[in-house]
Amino acid sequence: MKLANKHIFVTGGAKGIGEAIVRDAAAESASVTFIDIDEYAGNRLASELSADGKSVAFFSADVASFDQLKTAFESGVNRFGEVTGVVNNAGVNSHADPVKMTDKEWDDFFAIDMKPVWLTAKLALPAMRKAKAGSIVNICSIHGRLTYPGFFPYGAAKSAVLGLTRNLALDEGRHQIRVNAVSPGYILTELTKTWLSGESGRLERANSIQPLGRMGEPFEVAKVVTFLLSDKSTYVSGSDWAVDGGLGARSA
Ligand code: NAP
Repeated sequence: MKLANKHIFVTGGAKGIGEAIVRDAAAESASVTFIDIDEYAGNRLASELSADGKSVAFFSADVASFDQLKTAFESGVNRFGEVTGVVNNAGVNSHADPVKMTDKEWDDFFAIDMKPVWLTAKLALPAMRKAKAGSIVNICSIHGRLTYPGFFPYGAAKSAVLGLTRNLALDEGRHQIRVNAVSPGYILTELTKTWLSGESGRLERANSIQPLGRMGEPFEVAKVVTFLLSDKSTYVSGSDWAVDGGLGARSA
């Protein structure tokens, strides 16, 4: 019951790490509003959890659209009351060529991987400031600090998420709002599996460098997110929690 009486808003919650965050928050007694562009997977997850007695609402929305985010956010508030915690999780990879990448591709990418941290803050902060409480968790990446060839400009977006985490943590601390980042390493989701299957030998190489001898599972990220959303972490703010099995400690 770590999240009893909390209302958590999660982006990209239908699959992967976001799904695990939704499941864990609901299991810890939170009311959960989540959005995703995968309407089928979102509705399926919401139906399953609702049938199990959990307070969960799904809305189909694209984080790149402030109007869609706002509509979904307000629908969640109407259903469960003010949002007490936000998880900015929706994200995509980018493997662009810096010469061939167009302005539109650049803008579309940052509209998903960076800007929603600001847009959800715009929506959630007024009630959090009034309540003098709140927790925001931004799903960043090991790429926020150390990146990998062929990921242009993913490392920049994730570094920016870390910067926004620090900005918000410092500015909102006086309102008792905590803002933290969680940086996964290799977590076995569709996003990672697609990338791993993109080149022969990549899976074997990725496995061979893991200090714990394996990649992570989505629930292992969710457990840290739940902690940061909960009142077990009341003096934790402005930090970046690595959930990478030790990979970030490794030199080449
Ligand atoms: P995933 O398996 O692809 O799940 C992400 C979910 O977000 C999908 O349901 C996806 O829908 C949805 N989504 C994508 N774009 C969206 C948009 N514009 N608006 C709303 N929803 C959208 O990804 P994941 O691996 O769980 O990654 C989640 C987060 O963790 C991302 O921010 C990622 O950068 C970060 N991360 C992941 C890893 C890893 O190893 N998996 C490591 C470090 C950081 P579609 O499938 O229909 O696109």
